[in-house]
Amino acid sequence: MTTPPVKTLCPYCGVGCGLEVLPSVGETGQVRGDRTHPSSLGKVCVKGATVTQALNRDRLLYPLRRSSLQDPFTPVTWDQALEEITNRIQALQATPESICMYGSGQLQTEDYYVAQKLLKGCLGTNNFDSNSRLCMSSAVAAYQQSFGADGPPCCYEDLELTDYAFLIGTNTAECHPIIFNRLRLHHKHHPGTRLVVVDPRTTPTASAADLHLAIKPGTDIHLLHGLGRLLLDQGGANQEFIARHTQGFEDYLKVLSHYPPDRVAATCGITIADLKQVAHWWQTSKRVLSLWSMGLNQSAEGTAKARALINLHLLTGQIGKPGAGPFSLTGQPNAMGGRETGGLSHLLPGYRSVTNPQHRHELEVAWGLTRGQISPRPGRDAWEIITGLETGAVGLLWIVATNPLVSLPDLERVKAALAQSPFTIYQEAYHPTETAAFAHLLLPAAQWGEKTGTMTNSERRVTLCPQFRSPPGQAQADWRIFAQVAHRLGFGAQFPYQESSQVFEEFAALTAGRPCDLSGLSHRRLSEQGPCQWPCPPGHPGTPRLYQDLNFPSGRARFSATHSHGLAEPPDSTYPWVLTSGRLYGHWHTQTRTGRIEKLRQMHPEPFLEIHPRDAAKLGIETGDAVQVRSRRGQAQLPVRITAAITPGTLFVPMHWGALWADQAAVNTLTHPLACPDSHQPELKACAVQIFPL
Ligand code: SF4
Repeated sequence: MTTPPVKTLCPYCGVGCGLEVLPSVGETGQVRGDRTHPSSLGKVCVKGATVTQALNRDRLLYPLRRSSLQDPFTPVTWDQALEEITNRIQALQATPESICMYGSGQLQTEDYYVAQKLLKGCLGTNNFDSNSRLCMSSAVAAYQQSFGADGPPCCYEDLELTDYAFLIGTNTAECHPIIFNRLRLHHKHHPGTRLVVVDPRTTPTASAADLHLAIKPGTDIHLLHGLGRLLLDQGGANQEFIARHTQGFEDYLKVLSHYPPDRVAATCGITIADLKQVAHWWQTSKRVLSLWSMGLNQSAEGTAKARALINLHLLTGQIGKPGAGPFSLTGQPNAMGGRETGGLSHLLPGYRSVTNPQHRHELEVAWGLTRGQISPRPGRDAWEIITGLETGAVGLLWIVATNPLVSLPDLERVKAALAQSPFTIYQEAYHPTETAAFAHLLLPAAQWGEKTGTMTNSERRVTLCPQFRSPPGQAQADWRIFAQVAHRLGFGAQFPYQESSQVFEEFAALTAGRPCDLSGLSHRRLSEQGPCQWPCPPGHPGTPRLYQDLNFPSGRARFSATHSHGLAEPPDSTYPWVLTSGRLYGHWHTQTRTGRIEKLRQMHPEPFLEIHPRDAAKLGIETGDAVQVRSRRGQAQLPVRITAAITPGTLFVPMHWGALWADQAAVNTLTHPLACPDSHQPELKACAVQIFPL
């Protein structure tokens, strides 16, 4: 008898494609697209199609411990591992601010929630941050500031209902392939639909566009304000919408007066004609949809960039209707679930804020804590954890399901900080990784398919991911590990869960009446009725689009009025090149999983540096030659690819290669940690470098 397929979600990117897994086919199961999943309609990219191939490769099977980073790891029992964590936390409990956890958008919602309850509730420290800080925290801050609450307003159906798709800072074709697939088909079959892509590189996304604006790195706000100015001057502003539904328009107008088309075109390195064309299409299209991801977010002015884009939608009333709105794409599969559960150091579950006394009180009551137990101070963000290690303020660091020794900026400094960490716990499914080399205690984690939980994709759609195989060795679900530590610390009453469905039930109840209302959802409902988009109170069918009534959480939506400051580290005579980084179709993040899948390794066998032919000629280098790239912080050595796809003066290196997969090829050895003041998201997308032929 054939076992029926298990319906689940792809654990890679924020598109959140539905998968059907046939667990009994082959060694680790077979995958196909789930035609009934509304987000992907049966489509799946090469990463999703091969995901089960890594399930049995290089798994961490039991806890490992060592006294110092110079020692080899030796096996310990779970009891010994949990006892040591408990003792070390108890030793620091008088100074809870010295305890930090750094998590990941790979975690399921249940894992995230239990971690928040343990750290922010029971231990009284808000020092939980996640790699979403590096990915989309600028989008979070922008939505909060512009609308009064986080949450992408749009849905994937809008990809097929729009007349004009404006993509800025997103290589959707490679990084969110199934979203791009839907958009590309719509564009192809609906003549008159416009596709504009703004990117310093001619990416596969840009190649499909009607018009590609290859702006200079760091000039996004100039471009967006230039478009605003043109729309205004040419009668494209929706005055009725502005008057009835927005605030702050007068200040925005003053800012726009500084961005005339000739100056904007010169600053961005584009023609005035192209600028006017893009504005004209925006003005004459009935439904305008904009998409963005890390190209805007990973910037020292990331929040201002995302808000400058949202401004254009407010200026023209292009929001709250099918096929229109500003739509941020999340990188991680459950970055949205992380936001819902408060998985950043300034947030609490249910889109609550640690600085809001009412929000803290609501959770203290719900969690059975004493008043004042939740700290009113935002915790350490990702980079502040590193600086806390440098100063000795961090006494225990617990890293979960992420690989910061590849993904954080300024890696040499990160390594030095981790080298002096008094105690680092690393909870991960795979071994080795670059981060394991800096840990004292390794905890084997069950991964996707080995535990039951939920994940929310970029269109706010929650999908149940059921367990379909046993965890290997002694690996355990992340939420169970957190709950066991909580029990040993004396918080058993707060963590009574036997199953993850109980964790979800408790969390969902806490979202009732909140912008991310999931209170109508349960594991059972998701299993019986399929995925659902929040807000979804009890008895509700789910909400494809936010703000259709144009009532924003802040009442009126807010225009931002911010000038551009340009790159945080602009090129100069000593470091004359701008280095940017990005992702490739077949790899995911730091290759923890994709590096172990042969087909994907063959697709992208080695790192490289892209350079324009004119620049290569000046340096006297050819494709395949090795170069050294140096920044103020470190160096990398890479083979060259000469391509006109990159703007002259700019270099590109993919971010996937850490020390485990290639020697001296980690792009983040070069990047800097200067970050957006609002979102604290570092400017991973640009730094100033030198380049030398080797
Ligand atoms: S597009 Fe993203 S979610 Fe969909 S199959 Fe590919 S990696 Fe998975």
